[in-house]
Amino acid sequence: MSTAGFNSQNGTGTGQTYANGPSQNPVTLQQPPGVGYGMNHQPAYNPMQAKAPAPPGPGLYPSGPFQPVPPVGSYQPSPELSSYPSALGQPLLSRPLVGGHPSYTPPLSASPGPRLPPAQATPPPPAVTSASYYPNPPQLMAPAWHYNAAATSMGPASSMSTPPRGPVANHVNPTVSLAAPSPPPHMSYSTAQPSGPGVPPTSIHGYTQPDTGPPPMNPLASNTYQPNRPPYGAPPTGPPPTMKSTPPPTGPPVTSGTPPPPKADGDVAGNGPQAPNSYNHVDNRMAGPTQPGPPGRHLGHYPSLPPGYQNTPTPPAPSSFHPAIQAATQPFIQGAQPYQQPPGGPGPAQLSPSLAAMSLQSNTPEALRVVNLLQERNLLPPNPVPAPTPCLTQDLQKLNCSPEVFRCTLTSIPQTQSLLNKAKLPLGLLLHPFKDLSQLPVVTSSTIVRCRSCRTYINPFVSFLDQRRWKCNLCYRVNDVPEEFMYNPVSRSYGEPHKRPEVQNATIEFIAPSEYMLRPPQPAVYLFVLDVSHNAVETGYLTVFCQLLLDNINALPGDSRTKVGFITFDSTIHFYNLQEGLSQPQMLIVSDIEDIFLPTPDSLLVNLNESKELVQDLLKSLPNLFEKTMETQSALGSALQAAFKLLSPSGGRMSVFQTQLPNLGVGALQSREDPNQRASAKDVQHLSPATDFYKKLALDCSGQQVAVDLFLLSAQYCDLASLGCISRYSAGSVYYYPSYHHQHNPAQVEHFQKDLKRYLTRKIGFEAVMRIRCTKGLSIHTFHGNFFVRSTDLLSLPNVNPDAGFAVQMSIEENLDDMQIVSFQAALLYTSSKGERRIRVHTMCLPVVNSLSDVFAGADVQAITGLLACMAVDRSVTASLSDARDAMTNAAIDSLSSYRQSALTIQQPGLLAPACLRLFPLYVLALLKQKAFRTGTSTRLDDRVFAMYQLKYQPLTFALLMIHPALYRVDDLNDEGALNINDQTIPQPRVLQLSVEKLSREGAFLMDAGIVMYLWIGRNCQPSFLSQVLGVPNYAAVPEKLHLLPELDTAESQRTRAFIGWLRDQRPFFPSLHIIRDESQLKPHFMQNMIEDRTESALSYYEFLLHVQQQISK
Ligand SMILES: [Zn+2]
Repeated sequence: MSTAGFNSQNGTGTGQTYANGPSQNPVTLQQPPGVGYGMNHQPAYNPMQAKAPAPPGPGLYPSGPFQPVPPVGSYQPSPELSSYPSALGQPLLSRPLVGGHPSYTPPLSASPGPRLPPAQATPPPPAVTSASYYPNPPQLMAPAWHYNAAATSMGPASSMSTPPRGPVANHVNPTVSLAAPSPPPHMSYSTAQPSGPGVPPTSIHGYTQPDTGPPPMNPLASNTYQPNRPPYGAPPTGPPPTMKSTPPPTGPPVTSGTPPPPKADGDVAGNGPQAPNSYNHVDNRMAGPTQPGPPGRHLGHYPSLPPGYQNTPTPPAPSSFHPAIQAATQPFIQGAQPYQQPPGGPGPAQLSPSLAAMSLQSNTPEALRVVNLLQERNLLPPNPVPAPTPCLTQDLQKLNCSPEVFRCTLTSIPQTQSLLNKAKLPLGLLLHPFKDLSQLPVVTSSTIVRCRSCRTYINPFVSFLDQRRWKCNLCYRVNDVPEEFMYNPVSRSYGEPHKRPEVQNATIEFIAPSEYMLRPPQPAVYLFVLDVSHNAVETGYLTVFCQLLLDNINALPGDSRTKVGFITFDSTIHFYNLQEGLSQPQMLIVSDIEDIFLPTPDSLLVNLNESKELVQDLLKSLPNLFEKTMETQSALGSALQAAFKLLSPSGGRMSVFQTQLPNLGVGALQSREDPNQRASAKDVQHLSPATDFYKKLALDCSGQQVAVDLFLLSAQYCDLASLGCISRYSAGSVYYYPSYHHQHNPAQVEHFQKDLKRYLTRKIGFEAVMRIRCTKGLSIHTFHGNFFVRSTDLLSLPNVNPDAGFAVQMSIEENLDDMQIVSFQAALLYTSSKGERRIRVHTMCLPVVNSLSDVFAGADVQAITGLLACMAVDRSVTASLSDARDAMTNAAIDSLSSYRQSALTIQQPGLLAPACLRLFPLYVLALLKQKAFRTGTSTRLDDRVFAMYQLKYQPLTFALLMIHPALYRVDDLNDEGALNINDQTIPQPRVLQLSVEKLSREGAFLMDAGIVMYLWIGRNCQPSFLSQVLGVPNYAAVPEKLHLLPELDTAESQRTRAFIGWLRDQRPFFPSLHIIRDESQLKPHFMQNMIEDRTESALSYYEFLLHVQQQISK
């Protein structure tokens, strides 16, 4: 057995990225000798040779001359500097407090964090065990790791007392729904609504960010909510008809008259005190012993292209296909169509989901169209791939959660675990729970209606037995409808509980009553921890940071209670007394970094409004303060400890800016990377942290409601694998700017500026927890993202930000025999920056199916790929990179093999896939070539680790662009099919395959890789594009480093900038743009994303398909 996988082909030389043989494509033909790249178009293909046994060594591929890859930023050792300026022109206090540490008395309680009221039938969260720890518990690392998610140790979310389960009623009991008048198709609530008590209409902050969020692709419901309208309030204070006299019976969450006990369950179980050493109970080892991977699958030596397998348009499908399908060149566009309820068909009330599914699938849906991957080359739809539509009745689908927020890898849930095992596809959810939304209904109510048994929030997929009782769609308990719920704030009428906004919207936000908090909600607290060593000053980041914060100081989310503070550090820790009344900021230096203490604890975190001038003074003087520093040492660990002490009493956000490897005091690290081994190493070492210092500190932070965001700006190795733990376990974010320099790398500077502006001004939630519930029978067992799993299913998020994504894996614990639909609910409880306790609830409903074909038909290949990437990151760390690579390859092999054996009715030759999975092998190959997982190419360790972080916490849409970038030709943009947004015409060029064959030396091509974009200019690019868009007379005049398109007053320039701007507007971060010529240093980065082409160390797409086919036919 071997785990060699593709590694057997690794080149031995460093930096030899592209060593391809002669190429026939028009681009490379015109290459000067020695600059070859691209696919090897060997015409001699014999399918019989595809089973050549030996995996090719490097010598087997005809390696022509190659272009060496210059490292983007080589690691430069810092000059050894030791002296420190004795005085910085500020009042210094080298040891202000000699006697011991100031002791803290937390203001209200030693246990910060609001909590929920008790959940009646929910047991207290079990003690944190290794099984609930992140990453994967060991038992999930069995060789068949991605399918055998037994999850035995995790248990169900709660051992709820479940009433007998009956068949699932339709979403509204027919007797009720028929009796009740239907809501008008489009309700408009532009008229003034009653406001919730104590919530002024203008206090709704941050829910609409039209300048940052993309346009709503999928409105939440047919109801039109006004973004800035006040939340739905309590019933009007005027006397309502007859019911007012009845005191509203409080629902389970309120338990009126009974004060919640100190230990709360429900959503915030354990949001109170954290056992100080709770992490001691868990397995701190990031990397378990390397386990044997699945049986290695060797790659044969395949010819690169068969005759006739050219990049021509889709060949006509075999005549056995439906005529309409043969004509389909845009299958994914059509993919969703067969799932729509046919107009005029039976209404949802008369047709259960499964019946509807059956009738709709009687003729093969597009998702199950058989595709021979070896024949059909042009698989990419012309526009970005949309999410598949679940096979639900229109009525349910209309109410369902937006796929931008909530997505499942299988939009049809298998009835049993054995059926899931057969499909060999991972089951899991991908979430973007705090996404900026342009429409978000907000409800203020003293009674938040939840299931008495499992604490599920009432949602569109519950059933009403009558007007007074509703049945939970997760545990099937029948609950009473509280009196207050009888009033509908939308229609301002009584007796319509099923028309309440909670039952009409799959995404909704509640303003929580006081029962949901233990202490007053914390204020917004921001602490900035800044590296001011020589290295930091050299990069010039401090100036940019201070200026941006000055510019945005009034845009920080918060209110009159907002607090800020600053700590700077090199070999010592510097505090800043910003107490109101001082004439200037006071700098306090603590040099005893081994035993850190706070010199003046009460004046370091100050009210922003009261001390704004002092803060501004400090920001203006900071860059100069350290201008001439020669201090090279970095005591980051001590600075973090100091910052933790400062934030502990209140909780808040810690923003850390670091530019080098910390090399002094606690948490000091050593370089673990040997640049010479990067490309040749068979496996990658040091993906796990070198010390548990940062993880332990992060868990301490998490317990005190502190999240740590890390900005790493460095040209050198910084051991992100170790440093990143500080953010990973405290629910922070990691930002990484390799080779940041204020003069040498303007693109990075712009990138940093845009990111930082977004970071400072975006919405933020404090002291948050998220719980994901699912219908009884399903079980959630592994979480991906940045957080700490506090109990089995409760994620602790000291901060939550709108750009964070999460993923979870699921298994089917009990057969879902009686069920036609299942539901998933994510509830995020947080404190807004304005001090409101809020709960955002998303509910998704999916059909249950009992045939393998239906499972395949519902496969969401993008969600599967996103989840697979998360699993592979864990696997790389806990086992090895080669294990992870093997497992990803096997995922493609096994699912297509299962499809062939069990779901395909008519056997035919070729590598067959259902249309909905036809991109799966391509995406898997893309993952294998992604920076996080690739081998044989010089990839800096920090770059790799950062890519892994991104795959884990980026929302799916953006992670997919990292995995499989979008390529467009942009020198011939026209208005055909263009969008018109705000009177601006946005061209929509078609997405091209990632192959150099698609490039043309006469053209210009934009590659959108999510966080970065490349505009590649062909050597013979049309002069009109050069002059009209780039503003240069000829190709030679294109500057070597260009990252901005000039704003020219030409139609071509406007089109190009509109298109790039439109792409950028759809993501919350700012992708930097690199305009590159053919001989640019960055060209290898562009070319490495040509996933379909062979490289020295990796197969072409066609070779990969042959490998998959060979393994399937074994
Ligand atoms: Zn329930």
